Amino acid sequence: MTSRPPPAEPKRPTIYQEAMEVFHRAADLIGLDRRVRMELEEPDYEHIFYVTVKLHTRLTPLTQAAEVQKYSDLSDSELLPDGLEPLLDGSFVFKRRALIGAKLQMRDGVVRLKGKGLYKVVPGRPERFKAYRVQHNQARGPYKGGIRYHQDVSLDLFKVLAAEMTWKTAIADVPFGGAKGGIKVDPRSLSSEELEALTLRYMYRLKPLIGPTLDIPAPDVGTDASIMGLLLRQFTDGERERHALRGVVTGKDTRIGGSEGRVKATGQGLAYCIQEWFADRGTTPAGSTFVLQGFGNVGSNAAEILSGLGSKLLAVNDSGGTIYSPGGIDVPDLIAYVYDNPANMRRTVAGYPKAQQIGKTDLWGVECDIAIPAALGGEITGPVAERLKCKLVAEGANGPTTPEGDRVLEKRGIEMIPDIIGNAGGVTVSYYEWIQNKRMEHWSETEVNGRLEQAIKSNYRIIRDISRNTPRRTATHNSTRYCIGKEVDMRTAAMVLALKRIEAHYQLEGFSQ
Ligand code: NAD
Repeated sequence: MTSRPPPAEPKRPTIYQEAMEVFHRAADLIGLDRRVRMELEEPDYEHIFYVTVKLHTRLTPLTQAAEVQKYSDLSDSELLPDGLEPLLDGSFVFKRRALIGAKLQMRDGVVRLKGKGLYKVVPGRPERFKAYRVQHNQARGPYKGGIRYHQDVSLDLFKVLAAEMTWKTAIADVPFGGAKGGIKVDPRSLSSEELEALTLRYMYRLKPLIGPTLDIPAPDVGTDASIMGLLLRQFTDGERERHALRGVVTGKDTRIGGSEGRVKATGQGLAYCIQEWFADRGTTPAGSTFVLQGFGNVGSNAAEILSGLGSKLLAVNDSGGTIYSPGGIDVPDLIAYVYDNPANMRRTVAGYPKAQQIGKTDLWGVECDIAIPAALGGEITGPVAERLKCKLVAEGANGPTTPEGDRVLEKRGIEMIPDIIGNAGGVTVSYYEWIQNKRMEHWSETEVNGRLEQAIKSNYRIIRDISRNTPRRTATHNSTRYCIGKEVDMRTAAMVLALKRIEAHYQLEGFSQ
């Protein structure tokens, strides 16, 4: 008798398949054209390539007791501190200038740094990093999306994030499509010079694939305005008309073509959505309370703006730890602790002396009005959604709530500002930056924020009307084209708006053959 193979385990959906659930739901609801659906189901292009860079010599700490014992008699070396760049893992990148006036005592490549301990010299070597650019769709305009430097990225993740950009640019009603890319690297494990070399090499490889009217990167997790400056330099280097190419990246420093208001734009956009949520209930955020995950660009700016509107921050979690203060946390003071304190190398809220340190899971159990996830994806799972004691989840991060989390929130009657409108402020101001670059103009922050407020609030109102099935034409928005004859949740409503706007391009322009 032949024994049967055990039944195969049901295949878990990939994160891309999971993220596309809402796409399929909305596509079914509106009867999306079959061919348009096929165009949007998978990205236009998935680029994977490799970037090499030369890593410098490092001094890595000796930790094994036997080794420490072996070199216990080694006397101190004195190296110019300026030539040693500290890294997060406790090692130092060694620069030649460290040797100027040095007193060196080395045995078997081991040195004792005065006051620091024993270190092994690890010679510099080339290293290879995996890099990506996924271009999801360009029906509405050039591909647009951030560059992420993080150790946990994958093709599947970039597909999710690139598709999200397609929906977000449509919802923000800016003339772009969707893309995302980056490098599988922990940027904190590299020296500033290595990070520069890696960034320049990444753009060297990326250059044939992008351009100001083709694909426009921006900052995301692990990258910032200085990285955008390097990408710009490498892209335009040696080009005769390089000034006309400034719009190849957004999120630049305001002194080299960046827009006023861009740094704060994502947090600002989220705050406008939250204001609108309160306005809809005839009130304002003043006197409300919130908890926050992520104190980076989005989280810290959203927190600062909300606290300026009179809302109280009760607890924050980031990659280093979680803090809680029932009386409220002074946001500018916390920003100074995280960002203006050279000793706080991890730029974390952990250890903030004016709050209690609590566990990560405790964050979500804090009673408040608003919970703001503004870190990474997949954080509000079913069990986390069960714990939440808030009235509103306002998504600053991309994809922070899992489909199961969504179902639990819906069941518990917790309302939702979905990411594709909640964090669309960044790409909206990126569009303003791109126009300013095209026109060689520089707008004031008041002008930028005025336009942003109008754009975010009007698109938010359209989504809310779709969700409640209340088609309206007012002085500020017109949802009559988009309502579908029945009520749907806010995330589905946002996707309905995106798909209807994208489908119009295929319907009215047709398909290129
Ligand atoms: P950032 O790198 O400035 O900050 C990330 C924050 O998340 C940090 O405080 C970090 O400590 C925290 N974090 C990282 N891993 C964590 C973990 N496992 N648990 C808890 N906290 C963790 O990034 P950012 O630009 O603020 O982006 C945050 C999110 O917002 C991302 O999902 C990003 O895709 C999204 N987003 C950013 C922008 C933008 O303009 N920066 C625009 C749209 C969406």
